[in-house]
Amino acid sequence: MSDTESPENTRVCIIGGGPAGVVSAYLFALRGIPVVLLEGKKDFDREFRGDTLHASSLEILEQLGLVEDVLEKATSKIQKLSMSFGDREINIADFYAMDSNYPYVAIIPQVEFLNHIVDKAGKLPEFSVVMGAQVRELKEESGKVSGVKYTLDGDEHSLDAELVIGADGRGSSARRLANINLGKTSPPMDVIWFRLPLPPGSKVQEVNGRIGSGNMIVIIGRKDHLQVGYIIMKGGYKELREQGIGHFHEVIKNLAPEIGDRVTEIKDWSEMAILSVVTGRAEQWYKDGLLLIGDAAHIMSPVGGVGINYAIQDAVAAVNQLAQPIKENRLNSADLAGVQKRREPAVSTIQRFQSLIQQRVIRAALKSDDAFSPPLPMQIVSKIPFARKKIAHFLAYGTRHEMIENL
Ligand SMILES: Cc1cc2nc3c(=O)[nH]c(=O)nc-3n(C[C@H](O)[C@H](O)[C@H](O)COP(=O)(O)OP(=O)(O)OC[C@H]3O[C@@H](n4cnc5c(N)ncnc54)[C@H](O)[C@@H]3O)c2cc1C
Repeated sequence: MSDTESPENTRVCIIGGGPAGVVSAYLFALRGIPVVLLEGKKDFDREFRGDTLHASSLEILEQLGLVEDVLEKATSKIQKLSMSFGDREINIADFYAMDSNYPYVAIIPQVEFLNHIVDKAGKLPEFSVVMGAQVRELKEESGKVSGVKYTLDGDEHSLDAELVIGADGRGSSARRLANINLGKTSPPMDVIWFRLPLPPGSKVQEVNGRIGSGNMIVIIGRKDHLQVGYIIMKGGYKELREQGIGHFHEVIKNLAPEIGDRVTEIKDWSEMAILSVVTGRAEQWYKDGLLLIGDAAHIMSPVGGVGINYAIQDAVAAVNQLAQPIKENRLNSADLAGVQKRREPAVSTIQRFQSLIQQRVIRAALKSDDAFSPPLPMQIVSKIPFARKKIAHFLAYGTRHEMIENL
């Protein structure tokens, strides 16, 4: 692996080392296609972006012979998804009932997952990665994207490529530089993330959702700490801060008494990160010489913990579709359009589902002054094992399950 050299040309240049970029770079290199991955940060460890790998992704990793190593990094395996509404807990999805070798959601620190794939890819001569490479410009020749310009440690570099893939996440520079429009919607919530220590000897390694009156919390067990997401109405952070840190401690204590003794260890707002939840989908995921995948093409809400998995599925579909045309020097815009055509229906279906949950459950709960009861359809689903299995399957695979072709 090269992480210091700055190559000047390649066949495929991938902007962004999140799940979409890392997996697609590895797959191109496996097919013998020279690829350069440009990641803006110096490492893969950054603010919380989700750790959930569903069965669809685990089956892809199985195809690659990586699933056992990756699963060793799992801090837990979620068998079912349930939510607590006051004292009442209802089950929504039974992952354990799915017909899969992986009937659960594996919680794997994203940084470890990405490092693992990049380590494997680094053994292939066709793969190179440049860490700290901030892409600033798309190069164009006769209207076709022909490479990128990026800065690395203050110096400007240029890289020519037959295909540029924008896998640079929700704030995608590739999308902006290509003037591709994003149909953006603003879900009604923001998430405040913070970490709490695990009590010594604790085995709390699962995901727990709790809905109170007017507020909501998600607690995720990690190896050595708890990751907590406190969900607030969009724009509500300022008001929360004005009420003081003591008030915040009380709110969390009331909502999740089991962490009440530790939340007081948060002494200052600077120990928390506020993540604005945004969603959207680009009208067109490509232009000549450029393809957008993952959040660059469709910004995912955290609902269902599926964004990483859709990013990986996009990567698999893109390489399935494009590897052969690249090898045969016949790649054109119709091939790029084919990736959008294949992936967009599945993406738009899950985004509609996420939007429904955001409006009917999250927004309704956050607006409610009294104890919030789950909507009737949710209550009905929770009583029917077949429906819970179907929902688990939908979250795990969506409406189109991609597998690597011609491996
Ligand atoms: C609060 C929150 C919680 C979430 N929780 C979950 C969850 O639990 N499970 C789940 O599956 N999904 C979750 N998601 C969604 C998930 O984070 C995304 O769908 C997923 O990360 C998309 O992967 P990606 O590879 O497309 O982009 P990203 O993971 O965003 O990666 C993009 C990469 O591009 C790099 N980059 C950006 N600009 C440039 C540039 N100009 N040059 C070079 N590099 C650049 C970035 O540094 C980054 O590494 C959550 C989202 C939010 C907002």
